[in-house]
Amino acid sequence: MRLSGGTAEEWRTVQNTPTTTLGYALFATRWLQAPLYFGLVAAQGVYVYKFFNELWALILRCVTGQATETYVMLAVLKLVDVVMIANLLIMVIVGGYETFVSRIGLQGHRDQPEWLSHVNSNVLKVKLATAIVGISSVHLLQMFVDVHHTSRHALLWGTVIHMAFIVSAAILAYMSGPMAEHGGHGGHGGHSKNPAPPEGEAGPEHAAPSGAPHRAAPTEPVPIPRQADAPAQESGAEARLQAAGFPARKLLEDFDADHPRDFDRETVARLGKLDFVADRRNAVLAGPPGTGKTHLAVGLGVRACQAGHRVLFATAAQWAARLAEARAAGRLAEELAELDAYPLLIVDEVGYVPFDADASRLLFQLVAHRYERGSLLVTGDRPPARFGEVFAGPAGPALVDRLVHRAEIVRIDGDSYRMRRATSTWAD
Ligand code: ADP
Ligand code: MG
Repeated sequence: MRLSGGTAEEWRTVQNTPTTTLGYALFATRWLQAPLYFGLVAAQGVYVYKFFNELWALILRCVTGQATETYVMLAVLKLVDVVMIANLLIMVIVGGYETFVSRIGLQGHRDQPEWLSHVNSNVLKVKLATAIVGISSVHLLQMFVDVHHTSRHALLWGTVIHMAFIVSAAILAYMSGPMAEHGGHGGHGGHSKNPAPPEGEAGPEHAAPSGAPHRAAPTEPVPIPRQADAPAQESGAEARLQAAGFPARKLLEDFDADHPRDFDRETVARLGKLDFVADRRNAVLAGPPGTGKTHLAVGLGVRACQAGHRVLFATAAQWAARLAEARAAGRLAEELAELDAYPLLIVDEVGYVPFDADASRLLFQLVAHRYERGSLLVTGDRPPARFGEVFAGPAGPALVDRLVHRAEIVRIDGDSYRMRRATSTWAD
């Protein structure tokens, strides 16, 4: 079953190729940072040394019977402290390197930390802040355990400083929630500071359909980032999931990447990092029925909700109806402006129903309005170069042009997953 034709040419014609040699040269200077991370690895070594030093001293005192209960507790807290600082270091080393220098390509590694698939400078800041709060709690606890040897002055300041860490962590978590939700406007929502867009060094290659040979090859499964450390995001996630109008809850993790005959898992894994939402770019998933386009679109939407973005899901026909209704009520402009509150709109099923010139114009207005304001994630049964067949009238080509500018395009090809299940049931 191969309903979506689409020659390589068709896929290529819709891609845009901004090539800025100077930009690439500047971007290449990020490698200057690489040695810094190796320096931190050396610092990590210092902590390992310190840890075993402390541990040895503790064991010695226990063996020689000089260890009081308080001493043991303090010594253990000190060890915990060292481990926590070492954790913080590894987070900065791996997360920072991955964000600012180069993708490490740990995806699929069985020890890949969950947060790494979702790392950006925002997440990193929140993680660091929470790690620092953890360390400062241990310090504070040490002071209180050893309260007879701690001056009131030190206790007071220890508490004040700890509170300051908590407040700043809460502020950071808050900022990476609602601010990311609004697409990181104004450039201070960490996303936009992320200097390592995956397009980075692909050079002219990155004109290839679906951005083929990018960096390291991230593969499924891409774990959903756990965000227990960012309460501001967590609390709203369920509400956002409810409000998004997904037809079913589908997760990227449940997508069997081996089922499609042809499928760009790298691009999907990259989409899963949601940079396209932060960058307000579009994405198109195209392929025959039953190949999991809606599944992937929902999976990406779920992930966006969990990352703090508001999302709305509807089919192209439903979007057209919604806009027609708004226009009839004389509030099309307001409706479009209200949609700005959603960094990601999902437009499912382009292609099954043809749109007349009027509906095409409405959808064009949506695409044009979103252009560089927010992301659209579109699924269709044919390559975007052939979306013109679906949208009648003069708005069609303009719509396609806006839609695919800077868009990530994923082509899925293969047999219907529904059919596979039907035939295997039949065989049973
Ligand atoms: P499409 O939108 O491309 O027509 P769907 O996303 O609706 O296809 O997929 C049809 C059904 O098959 C859904 O229940 C979906 O979860 C499932 N499905 C499709 N492809 C896969 C896959 N590769 N792995 C797991 N489930 C899949
Ligand atoms: Mg579908």
